[in-house]
Amino acid sequence: MNRKIIISAGHGGNDPGAVANGYTERDLAIEFRELLVKELLLLGVKPLIDDNKNALKQTLAWLTGVLKSDKTVCIDIHWNAASSKARGTEVIVPDNASIFENNFAKNILNVFVSNGFINRGVKPESQTARKRSGWMRPPAENILIEMGFITNLLDINLYQNLKYKLAKELAFVIYKSLI
Ligand SMILES: [Zn+2]
Repeated sequence: MNRKIIISAGHGGNDPGAVANGYTERDLAIEFRELLVKELLLLGVKPLIDDNKNALKQTLAWLTGVLKSDKTVCIDIHWNAASSKARGTEVIVPDNASIFENNFAKNILNVFVSNGFINRGVKPESQTARKRSGWMRPPAENILIEMGFITNLLDINLYQNLKYKLAKELAFVIYKSLI
């Protein structure tokens, strides 16, 4: 493996992120990070992961300490929240995304789309509601996945039905990108 990988569940500890439909964003993201790590280990990839107690600010501080190369791939897992009708997956990259970041984000997004999630595209951070994301600042290959809308039951149900398959397919995309 030429590149190392760091996977964060975004929210953590006292910061639950969005809450809807009986789910919290933090717990959904932690669950999926675990599924992804399990699949990556089967492929011989050992990711570094954030502490479940860390909110984004603490995760970013930790990340700065462990980052050794700007070739390291950093993935942050989130769920979107809006009206109950909004749905779909989007993958966020820095405004001045590298070729790697753009291609990687597209490949990640394709896994969701081929599994029935609505395609909301690969978006530079300035085109998102928050305009800027701390996750885009560390000197590495940074992407942030908005898996779906926690506020939309179709997205939640799709995730619950397909999470093991999604984790397997995403792990393979990640594995190929690290070589
Ligand atoms: Zn979030």
